[in-house]
Amino acid sequence: MALIVQKFGGSSVADAESIKRVAKRIVDTRRAGNDVVVAVSAMGDTTDELLDLARAVAPSPAPRELDMLLSSGERISMALLAMTIHSLGCEARSFTGSQAGMITTADHGSARIVDVTPVRLREALDDGAIVIVAGFQGFNRDTRDITTLGRGGSDTTAVALAAALDADVCEIYSDVDGIFTCDPRVVPLARKLDVVSAEEMLELAANGAKVLYIRAVEYARRHNVLIHARSTFTSNEGTYVLGEGMADPRLAKGEDMSDVIGKEEPVVAGVAIDRSQAKITVVGVPDVPGSAAAIFTRVSKSGANIDMIVQNVQSASPGHTDISFTLPKEQAPDVAKQLKAEQDELGFQSLVHDDQIGKLSVVGAGMRSHSGVSLTLFDALSSNGINIEMISTSEIRVSVVLRDTDLDKAARAVHTAYGLDGDVEATVYAGTGR
Ligand code: ASP
Ligand code: MG
Repeated sequence: MALIVQKFGGSSVADAESIKRVAKRIVDTRRAGNDVVVAVSAMGDTTDELLDLARAVAPSPAPRELDMLLSSGERISMALLAMTIHSLGCEARSFTGSQAGMITTADHGSARIVDVTPVRLREALDDGAIVIVAGFQGFNRDTRDITTLGRGGSDTTAVALAAALDADVCEIYSDVDGIFTCDPRVVPLARKLDVVSAEEMLELAANGAKVLYIRAVEYARRHNVLIHARSTFTSNEGTYVLGEGMADPRLAKGEDMSDVIGKEEPVVAGVAIDRSQAKITVVGVPDVPGSAAAIFTRVSKSGANIDMIVQNVQSASPGHTDISFTLPKEQAPDVAKQLKAEQDELGFQSLVHDDQIGKLSVVGAGMRSHSGVSLTLFDALSSNGINIEMISTSEIRVSVVLRDTDLDKAARAVHTAYGLDGDVEATVYAGTGR
């Protein structure tokens, strides 16, 4: 008997009809002879609505109370789901995060899981029940308070449950078919990936791909959990996210793999695009030791998440240099203001805040052993007349910053250049992938 963890996102349980569809799916999995543990998100946009409500009554709600409020969203869906399963003739029991033994740090709104003690879940499974767990929440032992894991945290709940219960697979259901070589709404010929390595998935997620949350993939990688990202609306296989040394699960199922076996892995797994970043350029910084340190001391005080940094050799004026960096759009105005306020002290000439940029990243583990990978990217962009503003690389990624108006065209060109195009247009649902 296998143990399967299934996670359903908010869009999969948005209303009564959807909950019935999900319940049927869970019951089918149970009746096929598996133990089933489910992590569920709050219905539809519940979390956003609760946040709006909180802000309507208090300008900056107390973090402890906010977690009390937000964690209630998942309690609604878990109870409704359990009831629906009962009406389909199966035994099901719902548990809050703390009942499920999700022990976290005390950081309200961004707690991290430190331990999972699923004693009650094991008991329920032993009694033959389907287990439903409220996602996105836990409990801190010292403060004895309810915590939440940060937006999108139900993915992490599911993976942590899978790790703690030694599940065979953690299925993450959403309204898209799996992980694509690029966002199909931008690149119509994007293909669904059958498998992707956790390492590649982390880079894709960190650079704009939204189907799986980074923290969940990190957790899965560390604890060797097999993730299967798939759609609530079909029974097709989605994308398996494989940890290091994990066998392709399609082999165990005896699928015909003749088109995969013996072939070299593609150098590039996918193309990620990101419109959430802005660029700040500090123009005419004195080209002396300590300038960058002084600037980034100010930046880090603001708590901003810096992504790329580029320093030019020299700007138009001798003895000076320009430093550009990217950061989330919503953090940019504050950082720009802070730096401006200290312009005299930092000694730079001017500052440019630009939020019309887009970032395109090409990701693939095969880059380690292949040369000329970035050249293909640069060629594809240049032959389409697209200008590159910044470049950064990691071992398995090349990223460029472009004008945001060039991003879609660039994604299509680059996707074609790396031979990623499929034969048919991908089915695009109105969905969000959540
Ligand atoms: N309901 C929470 C959110 O919307 C957690 C989740 O959906 O994973 O962020
Ligand atoms: Mg949600």
